[in-house]
Amino acid sequence: MVVKNDDNISKQKQIERKLRESKDRFRSIAENMADWIWEVDVSGHYTYCSNRVEAILGYSPDEIIGKTPFDFMCPEDKERISIEFRKFAQTIKPFSNLENWNITKDGKRICLLTSGTPILDKDGNYCGYRGVDSDITERKKALEELITAKEFAENLLETANVIVATIKSNADIASFNRYAEEITGYKKENVIGRNWFDLFIPKRDKESIPKVFNELLNNMPKVFNQENSIVTKNGEELIISWNNSVLRNSSGDINGILSIGMDITKRKKTEVELIKAQAESEIANKTKSMFLANMSHELRTPLNAIMGFGQLLEIEQNNLDDRQIEFLEHIKHASKHLLEMVNDILDLSKIESGSFDIDIKQFNLKQMLLRLLKSIKSLAFNKNIELIIDIDLTNELICADEIRLKQVLYNLLSNAIKFTSSGKKIGIRAETKVNNAVIEVWDKGIGISNKDLEKIFDPFIQVAKVKQQGTGLGLSISRKLIELHGGTLIVESRIKEGSRFIINLPGVILTRDCKTGISAVKDTTVKRKTHKKTIFL
Ligand code: ADP
Repeated sequence: MVVKNDDNISKQKQIERKLRESKDRFRSIAENMADWIWEVDVSGHYTYCSNRVEAILGYSPDEIIGKTPFDFMCPEDKERISIEFRKFAQTIKPFSNLENWNITKDGKRICLLTSGTPILDKDGNYCGYRGVDSDITERKKALEELITAKEFAENLLETANVIVATIKSNADIASFNRYAEEITGYKKENVIGRNWFDLFIPKRDKESIPKVFNELLNNMPKVFNQENSIVTKNGEELIISWNNSVLRNSSGDINGILSIGMDITKRKKTEVELIKAQAESEIANKTKSMFLANMSHELRTPLNAIMGFGQLLEIEQNNLDDRQIEFLEHIKHASKHLLEMVNDILDLSKIESGSFDIDIKQFNLKQMLLRLLKSIKSLAFNKNIELIIDIDLTNELICADEIRLKQVLYNLLSNAIKFTSSGKKIGIRAETKVNNAVIEVWDKGIGISNKDLEKIFDPFIQVAKVKQQGTGLGLSISRKLIELHGGTLIVESRIKEGSRFIINLPGVILTRDCKTGISAVKDTTVKRKTHKKTIFL
């Protein structure tokens, strides 16, 4: 008997130890869980809750015990949850994942996910519920943001005036936005699940486009652009510019394409019309240039005769009276002007038709300028204009068409004199940089208004208010001649203050030898300039 008693005592101790161990385990789990554990009695009042509650709701277990879950719940959830909870309690059934919003001790709103099972005593009587609450506020917020972003994206897709469609790897259409419906004439529900190529690609492209699609699917850059035609429901062909990007599933495999398309049919048509119009205008231009060139030649023959006979009359001056000498002067003056005009028209028409060749040779820039300035000096002197010369050159050789460069500079300098009044200044400045020459002609004359600055380079344009003789062709020829050299001619000006015309000739400077003056020509520079002289004057 004693033995039996001892046995019973040790069994009893074993059971108590196991019970203690089990309780410790339960407590440790309860304290370390991210969620909090609770128990309520039949009236719904908390009888237990784990310490974790304080981190979630802000209240200590002591502050919670004796209260009901509804004491912490947001007013809008109280009724809904109490109806649900009552249903479970009446049937004594477990419940799970009841979402409810609560207010923490410091007034924040948090969302709890509640699950519970009924507690029964050893006789099977219902004593309350035991359960778990998880804080899912962050998850809820993330979900809400996701939903908002999704709604925004869907809205955008539906309101955007671009086609947005997704196509699966097998070319079945997976989505189709409102604009796509509008442009193709097909309703979304009639295209989803159908093959993109069968439905939209014109017969002639039925082989090539799917091939490109598959090649791209297999070895695709992240985004690719393409243009192709689609056929609408009523058989019309539209040209669409696509911006495609690949779609991948959660394992990263490509499972389709997102295509964003813009209808560029009108733009394309305009482009084609423009190219046609451009070609026509080029033909018209060439015809005009040929006409002008022929006419100039025809005009020059009688003009030369007029000038020749004028010169003969000049020799006979002794036999002429004063009135006849005056008329002769008029004839000489007018025919000189007419010849200049004819020559200018001829130059311009040749440049415009592309048949004008410049004769590139090496020459000494400084010497050329000084020669030119001799004749300009007397023109300036006659009008009482001071000519300022600032030529920062030694003996550089440059590669250019000397005659044409002289023609340009003569035009700029005579304009400077023409549009500057007596007593004022004009000037020329020249310098060479690493491999280019810069020549500027400036004046303190009448200036050019901003709105006229570019116009003056158009043929036959004269913007000066003062009445001056001229053809209005000089600047347009000058700019074109400089451009034929690969250079630029620009102007800076202020009305009533003066103007500055700047020529920049790139790549024209030859190498210099300090001791002997000029040395060998740089190969690269000379090779670039291989025009031959073709002058038809
Ligand atoms: P033209 O001098 O024969 O009229 P250009 O083509 O050389 O023709 O010049 C066109 C116009 O540009 C001139 O009529 C004048 O109105 C304006 N222009 C040119 N150079 C100057 C300048 N230095 N100052 C003011 N206006 C100028």
